[in-house]
Amino acid sequence: MTTTKAVIPGSFDPITFGHLDIIERSTDRFDEIHICVLKNSSKAGTFSVDERMALIEESVKGLDNVTVHAFSGLLVDFCDEIGAQTIIRGLRAVSDFEYELRLTSMNKKLNSDVETLYMMTSTNYSFISSSVVKEVAAYKADVSDFVPEHVAKALNEKFKK
Ligand code: ADP
Repeated sequence: MTTTKAVIPGSFDPITFGHLDIIERSTDRFDEIHICVLKNSSKAGTFSVDERMALIEESVKGLDNVTVHAFSGLLVDFCDEIGAQTIIRGLRAVSDFEYELRLTSMNKKLNSDVETLYMMTSTNYSFISSSVVKEVAAYKADVSDFVPEHVAKALNEKFKK
């Protein structure tokens, strides 16, 4: 029997309830879920890659088929490295579509064995993005409806000054 593996890539800067919804819904459909924090040389990020990974690890500690990785390079190469043939992405609004179409078409061109599956956001999370959550946190407003408690704490710490 072959093991089914899926990769959930992203910046996760930081992880939100929107990301977690996609992660949790994926866990019972694949044997292994590999979260991949992509190191992007052109985007510094608010949290370091190590900080992002630690926040994800804490958020998924109850899910035993989820592993967290960091990778700098092409996502399809990461998929090859771990033997995964599926990428899962979330879709929030029509505005996500164009970017995702370009990304998926490029990945397909680079490696036609890897398929990307899209999962629609749950309606109550459709407005949540890491960048909006950071904006709210920067103004010292409460973000506990959008991110797990330990992430809210990390955001408060980051924007303390
Ligand atoms: P990227 O910079 O690659 O878009 P993100 O961390 O912003 O990385 O997002 C990673 C994945 O999670 C993307 O597929 C994105 O569409 C999805 N995602 C983010 N927020 C939500 C949400 N609220 N609901 C559903 N999917 C989401």
